[in-house]
Amino acid sequence: MKKELNLSNDLSWLRKAGGPAIISGPCSAETEEQLISTAESLAATGRVHMLRAGIWKPRTRPNSFEGVGEEGLVWLKEAGRQTGLPVTTEVANAKHTEEALKHGIDVLWIGARTTVNPFSVQEIADVLKGVDIPVMVKNPLNPDLDLWIGALERINQAGVTRLGAIHRGFSSFEKTSYRNIPKWEFPIELKRLFPELPIVCDPSHIGGSRELLGMISQKALDLEMDGLMIESHVSPDDAWSDAKQQVTPASLNRILGELIIRNKTT
Ligand code: PEP
Ligand code: MN
Repeated sequence: MKKELNLSNDLSWLRKAGGPAIISGPCSAETEEQLISTAESLAATGRVHMLRAGIWKPRTRPNSFEGVGEEGLVWLKEAGRQTGLPVTTEVANAKHTEEALKHGIDVLWIGARTTVNPFSVQEIADVLKGVDIPVMVKNPLNPDLDLWIGALERINQAGVTRLGAIHRGFSSFEKTSYRNIPKWEFPIELKRLFPELPIVCDPSHIGGSRELLGMISQKALDLEMDGLMIESHVSPDDAWSDAKQQVTPASLNRILGELIIRNKTT
């Protein structure tokens, strides 16, 4: 089957000037204060283009923190207003999508646990029909390129042309130093098939630990990926989800400052 995406060539939703797009913010919105103070410190670095926060958290095991829900969208918008940063959150079903649109969230992303399910992706696509909002689609949990492309196509066929992909690695039973094995050939092949599709790397979920962020980010830039999504928190050790992989805004600033941008990127 022919693979085609109808993509806008306007990338201003993702990044303002040259260089890779930097998206950062906590894994989860926890309190208004946590979100706003993280956002303010991120904005102060001058390196971050978009603020992320998870509002509904798709946890692997029950009885874990599952996100603050709709109230967090108000905090996220306020954090965006105070810092001037566009804001993005994960939507996993029609209800999340409707609420995110109602609160004026600037960019949506679809998480790895949702990309695996065409019913859920289609449900989101149906809500997005006729809505002009940028959407990023994470790779599915399992290494299946067609499933990733299929989710991008469903959102694109709803009329979304400001589309992006997020590479967050693939889960495996194998013991490796990664939380999710990167399998770099997947984003490379996606870029070959769709050269105009921006691809953002998510070193936080690939690595699962602070120590790996710099190395994975550098690899993504060396492969000419279009951006990085890195989780940050004012007090990472106290985070309610993904504590081991979150960094303070100051550490993020240091990690980003050490990266070498070898290629052109427009
Ligand atoms: C997240 O970004 O916090 C998240 C849940 O990611 P993923 O869908 O990649 O597991
Ligand atoms: Mn996370």
